[in-house]
Amino acid sequence: MKCPNCGCLEDKVIDSRLSEDGVNIRRRRECVSCGKRFTTYETIETLPIYIVKKTGVREPFDINKIKTGILKACEKRPVPITEIDKLVAEIEKKVTNSLQQEVSSHEIGNMVMAGLKKIDDVAYVRFSVVYKEFKDLESWFSEMESYLNERK
Ligand SMILES: [Zn+2]
Repeated sequence: MKCPNCGCLEDKVIDSRLSEDGVNIRRRRECVSCGKRFTTYETIETLPIYIVKKTGVREPFDINKIKTGILKACEKRPVPITEIDKLVAEIEKKVTNSLQQEVSSHEIGNMVMAGLKKIDDVAYVRFSVVYKEFKDLESWFSEMESYLNERK
């Protein structure tokens, strides 16, 4: 870190402390050249991730919406909630670890389908039939709702 006093690029960290709320680390640094002390803060970079729908409309990635969709597909199926949570966590990890700021609803749909295929045939078919037809998670969610209500 460039010394604010002499511009030297070398310093040593003399103290590191986690902030009370745990969201950043405060480091006291000392310039090796002039001895000036200064403070830096380190935080986790959190860039919002967006889902891009077929129409090109962007909306914030919301894992809860995806979970709701999966729960609907698995309604009245002998699928343990732990399996669903596992799939949801997997999808979330894939999306956040991709380091992309945008992910298409199509990609998300494919991830859900691939996951459901391993968990439950009926849930997979329910999801894919409706999803493939609509190719858009938003309309899928509402369509799934009426689809399941009709069957009751
Ligand atoms: Zn300095």
